[in-house]
Amino acid sequence: MPELVFFSGTMDCGKSTLALQIEHNRSARGLAGMIFTRNDRAGEGKLSSRLGLVTDAVEVQDGQDLYTHLVDHLSRGGRADYVIADEAQFLAPEQIDQLARVVDDLEIDVYAFGITTDFRSKLFPGSQRLVELADRVEVLQVEALCWCGARATHNARTVGGVMVVEGAQVVVGDVNHSSDEVGYEVLCRRHHRRRMTAASARAAALSPDVLPVSSA
Ligand SMILES: [Zn+2]
Repeated sequence: MPELVFFSGTMDCGKSTLALQIEHNRSARGLAGMIFTRNDRAGEGKLSSRLGLVTDAVEVQDGQDLYTHLVDHLSRGGRADYVIADEAQFLAPEQIDQLARVVDDLEIDVYAFGITTDFRSKLFPGSQRLVELADRVEVLQVEALCWCGARATHNARTVGGVMVVEGAQVVVGDVNHSSDEVGYEVLCRRHHRRRMTAASARAAALSPDVLPVSSA
């Protein structure tokens, strides 16, 4: 039976690496995939991983019907034995419904990869719809670590290393950012609640007014 599978996790947990691994394994067996992504760090129409691998992909647009895209592709004689949707948190809920229809009506496996919650620890609408519709949700356990060494379960948005909790849900940034830009950092829930990033922990450790906090 074809399936809609949602591989979820924090930033930096290896989602795109796994997406590329699935793509590699299937194309090595002669299968052809349709790869969707949105706002990948490598730029439009790319699916990339932090480990340096990259492949071409279809950049999903606002309002684009993904089911129709597949039907058009197949009716023009194209092949699609499976579908990969990376950065699926950026898809609209309707587009997740369209992916479910790809599974049910076209009988094609769909593997969606996404971050579950945003920097305020609220569900992204696309991820919420995936949790609602997926046949299976796999929580990736490649462990991203907080600066304190605990398992990082939450995404923080930072500006100049300082955690912010207000702003638009989608602002594209990266975990490897220069100091004044919007960036992202993965934290444990304790330090997400205390808004304590690696930079603010270092600053606190240097302040004579505060008990030293180990950054190890
Ligand atoms: Zn922590």
